[in-house]
Amino acid sequence: MTCKWIRWSASIPVILLLSAVGLFAFARLAEYKHEGAIALLALHLATWLDVLALAGTVLLAGWWLWRWLHMRIAHAP
Ligand SMILES: [Zn+2]
Repeated sequence: MTCKWIRWSASIPVILLLSAVGLFAFARLAEYKHEGAIALLALHLATWLDVLALAGTVLLAGWWLWRWLHMRIAHAP
């Protein structure tokens, strides 16, 4: 059984990754529609998309490692 706080803390990287996916979809949609101001905003967001996706991936990997260590130490059979 995984502790509740570990499961809750997983929501942080998951939210980051989901926002990256959402922004990516928005950026592609704005690009497709060719709306001036929105396309410019999407272009600006796209530069932050990589950072957001990378941060989410690193945090998720860190969370997974953290959970693995916790399961080994605190929940050793
Ligand atoms: Zn635990």
